[in-house]
Amino acid sequence: MNIFFDVDYTILGLDNSLRPDTKETFQALLDEEHKIYIWSGMGERWEVVNKFELNQYVSGVYEKPTHHFHERLEELGVPFEPDFVIDDYPEVVAAFGGVWVPPYFFKRSVDQEMQRIYRIVCDFAATGTSEDKQYRKKGSIIPLF
Ligand SMILES: [Mg+2]
Repeated sequence: MNIFFDVDYTILGLDNSLRPDTKETFQALLDEEHKIYIWSGMGERWEVVNKFELNQYVSGVYEKPTHHFHERLEELGVPFEPDFVIDDYPEVVAAFGGVWVPPYFFKRSVDQEMQRIYRIVCDFAATGTSEDKQYRKKGSIIPLF
């Protein structure tokens, strides 16, 4: 699958640290024949990719639409629709399908979200769905609290 990861608060903390196990998870996903893309509502975040030496894992870096998600892909130069997205912003996840991840702010010893993401991707790749409550089906409705 073509898997798109958000940057801020998904892989990158407020303190500019990389979320624990990001690289290990990227490698595990590559080993499962997935492709990884990085996108951000703040534009093409090459500085983050370069700083953390993520180039070897990543097949493309794009700007992410923050509204009219499907309609704006072409305008932003995203060459195809993501198969699966990982984001702390629930609307994006609901639009494309994927994993909503709790925002990552600061480096800390216990953050196992990357392992959880990996498990959900494996579930989805094998069965087309996941029982994990952080999985969002494409086109799901966002509850308004
Ligand atoms: Mg974010």
